[in-house]
Amino acid sequence: MTGGIDLHTHSTVSDGSKSPGDLVRLAKAEGLSAVALTDHDTVAGLPEAVAAGVEAGIEVVPGVELSVDAWGKSLHVVGLWLPERPGPLADRLAELRTSRGERNEAMVARLQAAGVDVTIDDVLAEAGGGEGGAPGRPHIAQALVRKGYATTYQGAFEKYLGSRGAAYVPKAKPDAADAIGWLKAEGGLAVLAHPFLYKLTNADLEKLLLRLKDAGLDALEVHYPEHSTDQTRTYLQLARKLDLGVSGGSDYHGDIKPSIRIGRGKGDLSVPVAVLDALKERLGS
Ligand code: AMP
Ligand code: ZN
Ligand code: FE
Ligand code: FE
Repeated sequence: MTGGIDLHTHSTVSDGSKSPGDLVRLAKAEGLSAVALTDHDTVAGLPEAVAAGVEAGIEVVPGVELSVDAWGKSLHVVGLWLPERPGPLADRLAELRTSRGERNEAMVARLQAAGVDVTIDDVLAEAGGGEGGAPGRPHIAQALVRKGYATTYQGAFEKYLGSRGAAYVPKAKPDAADAIGWLKAEGGLAVLAHPFLYKLTNADLEKLLLRLKDAGLDALEVHYPEHSTDQTRTYLQLARKLDLGVSGGSDYHGDIKPSIRIGRGKGDLSVPVAVLDALKERLGS
């Protein structure tokens, strides 16, 4: 099966395993007609992705993914159709990456206190983002595996890095309404990512979406690899009811999440081109 789009992916600039250019070329080779690059807390991969899209003949939507705090609940918001080189948003993202760096150092200190011989340089060696990159827990996990302190990536999260792990330090998150405002101020659309993850009842999700919509939220990520057919239908109905747009993507990370293919998820994801067209209509209105 070919065709379709993918509006949620990660490159080496944050915690994916493919460079922005290779990711875009892969999307083209897989037959997708559009792909969004949505790295965590950084837009540093966008110029390379956009250039690769022009070269390969596939539409690239410049994006980002932010972790935000919404009335005590931690959520992910994807921004789409950002400028390749944003204005004030770039400064906000730089601040988030600074606090990410401090958090990485704090987690390494906790690991060392637990007798684990891993340094911040070991962690940064796992990250490919360079200047403007957003290293985080996935890179710490890889360093722990490489140095033999965990046998698997998942095991590193269970023992050390997950929210109940010995070295876990919570991430400082911007307020949801502020973060949505940053994305909108750049002319982008704001999408609530992977709603299944928040473990809310449909009624509570609806309440949350209404508050986020008041803050400027444009769309809900309805199509996602972990969403069952029933969930997809429920989220679609909720989006219609609240007059929110519909988005969809695989959350592709390459080798870090080997079960997820770009544009296809676990094999049965398919985000129609009509989703892209409808979002563009919202963008223009
Ligand atoms: P960070 O932004 O540094 O907190 O890292 C978050 C990323 O770590 C997520 O996007 C996931 O890819 C990964 N992650 C978080 N929790 C787990 C977990 N329990 N098991 C595996 N990966 C996880
Ligand atoms: Zn990620
Ligand atoms: Fe996410
Ligand atoms: Fe993601």
